[in-house]
Amino acid sequence: MPGLCHSRGVMSDTAEPLFQRVALIGIGLIASSLARAIRAHGLAVEVVATSRSAETRARAAELGIVDVVFDDAAECASGADLVVLAVPVRASGSVAAAIAPGLAPGVIVTDVGSVKGSVIKVVQPLLPDGVSFVPGHPIAGTEHSGPDAGFAELFEGRWCVLTPTPETDAAAIERVAALWRAIGSRVDIMDPEHHDVVLAITSHIPHLIAYNIVATVSDLEDRTKKEVIKYAAGGFRDFTRIAASDPVMWRDVFLANREAVLEMLATFNEDLTRVQRAIRRGEGDFLEELFTETRAVRRGVIEAEQA
Ligand code: NAP
Repeated sequence: MPGLCHSRGVMSDTAEPLFQRVALIGIGLIASSLARAIRAHGLAVEVVATSRSAETRARAAELGIVDVVFDDAAECASGADLVVLAVPVRASGSVAAAIAPGLAPGVIVTDVGSVKGSVIKVVQPLLPDGVSFVPGHPIAGTEHSGPDAGFAELFEGRWCVLTPTPETDAAAIERVAALWRAIGSRVDIMDPEHHDVVLAITSHIPHLIAYNIVATVSDLEDRTKKEVIKYAAGGFRDFTRIAASDPVMWRDVFLANREAVLEMLATFNEDLTRVQRAIRRGEGDFLEELFTETRAVRRGVIEAEQA
């Protein structure tokens, strides 16, 4: 068949397959990690994928991380019992529209987008009757993109949040949850709006701060900039890693989660102003107390094994 690339990678026989055919729409960091993990654990008889560009499709085929690479998203999804949308959140609607006509009743569609409310609003109405949409978000990632960046262990010990709506089929939720658990994730069920508020503060605002701090350095005069790079280990280095994250993915996150991000940013700005005032007035006790409280938060993260 033209436009197809077949490959055979190492299949594990460690578990009963949960799905016959998993179709990955988009094959970047997250989907390629999922493909590798599904194969490593033997959770699908077949894993197929597609990507927007010929370059990424060719690379996915070359890496041999899926069984078939399709040129066309609709062809890729047709015949699958699980379809995973793994594209930047604002592209979810167009890919869902492209695959929807070929989806048979009983098929489960899920996604991995970092924002949930806006994705549900766009994707759910496009899917035919009898197709279940189980929105999801693995809280795992790196600053790298593309199929080369993925690895099978990415989701191990990490949370995957599923955000079903009242209409979502319970059995479909359980099947998607079983897949995430089988590749080592812990699964939580959350209301989509709550997810977006929680992620605004735990993920989106930290990325915004990193992007902003690195942008501030870019504006410094040349001599200072050189010293900042030289002494980056003083703290700046960690921000540069986060600020190297995919620009398109993060553009979409901020635009798709605008309300929650702006609300959290307002709170953050108030707190920053309070710290600014404490420094100006020499309020050492306030600063020490604040930094002691934040240390306790770090201990909590370590205890929750999310460090
Ligand atoms: P990625 O490595 O950049 O891969 C993105 C994939 O989407 C590629 O296959 C790309 O195709 C395709 N794509 C990009 N723009 C598209 C468009 N307009 N229409 C159709 N396809 C398009 O991204 P990723 O990190 O895997 O992220 C995928 C999803 O996972 C995003 O929704 C993101 O919010 C979510 N997520 C990411 C992380 C993270 O840390 N990276 C963590 C959790 C969840 P081409 O390469 O062929 O152009």
